[in-house]
Amino acid sequence: MTDILQIQGVSKWFGSLQVLKNVNLNVAAGQKIVVIGPSGSGKSTLIRCVNKLEAFQQGEIYVGGQALSGVRRMEAVRRDVGMVFQQFNLFPHLSILKNVTLGPIKLRGLPAPEAEQRALELLARVGIEEQAGKYPAQLSGGQQQRVAIARALAMDPKVMLFDEPTSALDPEMVGEVLDVMRDLARGGMTMIVVTHEMGFAREVADRVVFMDKGELLEDAPPAEFFAAPRLERTRTFLQRVA
Ligand code: ADP
Ligand code: MG
Repeated sequence: MTDILQIQGVSKWFGSLQVLKNVNLNVAAGQKIVVIGPSGSGKSTLIRCVNKLEAFQQGEIYVGGQALSGVRRMEAVRRDVGMVFQQFNLFPHLSILKNVTLGPIKLRGLPAPEAEQRALELLARVGIEEQAGKYPAQLSGGQQQRVAIARALAMDPKVMLFDEPTSALDPEMVGEVLDVMRDLARGGMTMIVVTHEMGFAREVADRVVFMDKGELLEDAPPAEFFAAPRLERTRTFLQRVA
């Protein structure tokens, strides 16, 4: 079977600065990839390319066999690829329920009652169904991030991307968000997670990839990756974060 996500020879520049250098990454359906690397190494840019939030100048990305740089509309990409950001990015003027139903109603054409039913199920799954009528500012950071996960799941994505989903949270809220992500992983979701949570990487990842200066330098199962990183740069990085 073809991999659900194929990143082939992707290079990207911001002006004269090359931030992705011939990146290759194939992900089979159901696999969990954890991406690590120093700040500025291109982790966010890479996953933003997968969601078409950023354009790239060379290479190609296929989601479910379809090329992103082709004719596909932005909405189609958003439907297939869910994204969870460090800063939650909920719509502040919409209730929690509306945050979750907006995409399915507008982009998938779901009738409102059906979208609401499904949103409540997803909010229950992430443990906050009783908050459905509130607004984002009334929730804790951990709760907001769980809403953001429910919102992404409401589109029935093929792949879920997480960009440092726990980095903006108070320490006591990190666990509740990682628990939801573990649950999602157990459910078979294909996930690409940029994180500094090495415990999560060891436990959940099928593969850990290391990026530095726009290059994807290592790609190995966590046991191998953490026990015997191939490169000095990886070892140096791990010593700093572990
Ligand atoms: P990471 O997520 O690993 O910290 P990023 O993908 O955010 O790295 O950034 C990679 C590089 O691209 C950095 O040098 C950063 O300064 C640069 N960069 C990111 N976004 C932009 C932008 N919109 N315009 C110009 N440079 C950018
Ligand atoms: Mg980043």
